[in-house]
Formats: sequence, structure tokens, C-alpha cells
Amino acid sequence: MRKNKTTKNFTNAKMSSEVYFYRCKVMNVIYDLKHHGIFIPRIDVRIGEDKNKSVLGKGRLNDNIIWITTKAINKGENYLYHTVLHELVHTVFGYGHTRTCHLMSAYQPEVVYSKDKLIEIFRRYYKLYNNKKQTKQLEVA
Ligand SMILES: [Zn+2]
Repeated sequence: MRKNKTTKNFTNAKMSSEVYFYRCKVMNVIYDLKHHGIFIPRIDVRIGEDKNKSVLGKGRLNDNIIWITTKAINKGENYLYHTVLHELVHTVFGYGHTRTCHLMSAYQPEVVYSKDKLIEIFRRYYKLYNNKKQTKQLEVA
């Protein structure tokens, strides 16, 4: 089945040099993970606007696709890392929201951690996910 590239209430922007620039900024966050030894599958990245102006991004659980608003990108580097890594935890690892987690709370904190600190939180989900995957493989072996 073809992957659905749209999500509720979100308007995907048509490709233009401006949208390309925004998309590069998001892709750079994803590439940066590789430099930190974190390997995730290829991710579909869509740029656009959500009907709900307080939404910064969306990620479909376990589907390797994220939607990021230009608002999230314009907020600054650490905020962009927060939004992208948050949506990646949803779409790559399939985890939902955790009120006690700085990265995975449903609302972005007023002040976010530095990008390095955010990557370390992301790494914890990455390890958790890989351990779970390994256990599953053992079970069916
Ligand atoms: Zn979320």
C-alpha cells in the first residue's frame, strides 16, 4: 500500500526554494543523529502549516513520516531539535507522550534543553527501542 503523505488538519506546502530551505533545516537535524552514532530509517519530511496554530509538528506512529511547521523551524535551533526529535520518537519508535519527559511531554516546554542534551534523551528511546526489538527477535527464534 502506498504511504499516505497527508495528515489531518495539516496542509503540506508545495515545493519551492523556500520550502526546500526549510526542509534542509529539518533534514540536518536527522543527519546530525548519524554523527552521534544513532541510526534510524529514511524519514519522509513534509513542511507546512497546521490548522491549529499551537501545533509545531506531527509524526505518525511507526510510519517514518513527520510533518513540521515553518513556525517550529523559525523558533530557533534548540526548539527545532526538540520538535523534530519529539516527532521522530513517535514515528520511528512508536512511543506516545510522557508527562514527566522533557522531550516527550505533549507540550513543548517554554525553555527547551540544548540540542546535545535533547539528543541524549533521544538516545535513551533509541536504546529502549533496540532492546525491545532484540527481545522480540529472541522470542520468535
Ligand atoms: Zn507528540
